[in-house]
Amino acid sequence: MTQTLLLVGGGHAHVAVLADWIARGVPADARTVLLTPQPTLRYSGMVPGWIVGQHGRDQALVDVAALAQRAGVELILDSCTGLDPDARRVRTAGGEEIAFDFASFDTGGEGRGAALLGDNPRLIDVRPIGAFVDRLAALPALAHVVVAGGGAGGVELAFALRNRAAGQAQVTLVTGRSGLLPGFAPAVQRRVAAALVRQQIAMQVDDARIAEGEIMAGARSLEPTDAIIAALGSAAPRWVRESGLAVDDAGFISVNQHHQSPSHPHIFAAGDVAARTDRALAHSGVHAVFAGPVIAANLRAVLAGEAPLASYHPRAHSLYLMNTGDGSAIASYGPFTAQGRWVLRLKHWIDRLWIEKYAALAKES
Ligand SMILES: Cc1cc2nc3c(=O)[nH]c(=O)nc-3n(C[C@H](O)[C@H](O)[C@H](O)COP(=O)(O)OP(=O)(O)OC[C@H]3O[C@@H](n4cnc5c(N)ncnc54)[C@H](O)[C@@H]3O)c2cc1C
Repeated sequence: MTQTLLLVGGGHAHVAVLADWIARGVPADARTVLLTPQPTLRYSGMVPGWIVGQHGRDQALVDVAALAQRAGVELILDSCTGLDPDARRVRTAGGEEIAFDFASFDTGGEGRGAALLGDNPRLIDVRPIGAFVDRLAALPALAHVVVAGGGAGGVELAFALRNRAAGQAQVTLVTGRSGLLPGFAPAVQRRVAAALVRQQIAMQVDDARIAEGEIMAGARSLEPTDAIIAALGSAAPRWVRESGLAVDDAGFISVNQHHQSPSHPHIFAAGDVAARTDRALAHSGVHAVFAGPVIAANLRAVLAGEAPLASYHPRAHSLYLMNTGDGSAIASYGPFTAQGRWVLRLKHWIDRLWIEKYAALAKES
């Protein structure tokens, strides 16, 4: 009997699943469906480079619709708004109910700027990244920008906005009380701090919040400010938290090393929407990318009635290449760090290799 295999979200892991299905064919006797709201995926790693004019706006798009077509996968352009894992159904924003036998989730997380800082018309969340790019593109040159969030995303955006092609701004980076780049090696933190000073980007090690319409770092007002960029990590979607699936404390889908739900073995997840139960794994695109082929292998296995055996074993350290917006970049790999124009060239090379791989796959006939 034909079984339905549903991919929810055209994120970084699922494009690898589509690539596997293009190369090896969709699993035998399966109806395959991809539910995602947009026909393209924007690769956030190239957004800072776009802000400073190193890439075109659409250079960082993966044509998910073309990949789905090439793979022979039915594409539904809609968002998941509800999941019943026991009844094996998802509900969409458009009011559709989609039944499945096996499903995999790669929807990313949601922005939490308004929840953490308070709402304000000047607040721009980096999530979803496509809406962030659209809003930023529509903004004229800015005199003063506050970036809230001291992780790698916030740091790169602070550098990028300081060097924005549309006009340079005064930038204040509000890191939160855990400081600059928590979890990174002290040598990396020192190097980034020195680069912020060199570029005259002010740093406040305090929590950002919006109080009576003013953006504050602790008790200090940062007004006048034209835009407040929230790069505060992501929150779990509500429909995940309400689904009855096993989730972690923050509400992200719990998965084991096979990226399979421990509560509902017919469900898999990867990327920012998932949380490993066997080890801590940062929410970053690179882990979503590496989990993709594991999900592809395991979906093939469970459809054939076999156990999902493929596992994702992340390396001890991840390579981060932070664009400093001035033609240079800072590398971080565990305790090691480096800086220079060659680091930016390496970043561009890695980013373009990934994008071009999918562009070629989407075009091949
Ligand atoms: C400025 C910035 C720079 C970054 N740079 C890097 C970097 O250099 N390297 C790195 O590893 N990480 C980087 N990150 C982190 C990285 O962006 C995320 O970790 C990564 O995008 C997560 O991938 P994902 O597949 O989980 O989700 P996403 O890339 O967010 O993809 C999710 C997909 O699901 C779709 N979707 C969303 N909601 C639904 C729904 N309800 N139903 C169906 N579909 C849905 C979306 O439209 C999208 O297509 C950066 C983040 C930022 C903000």
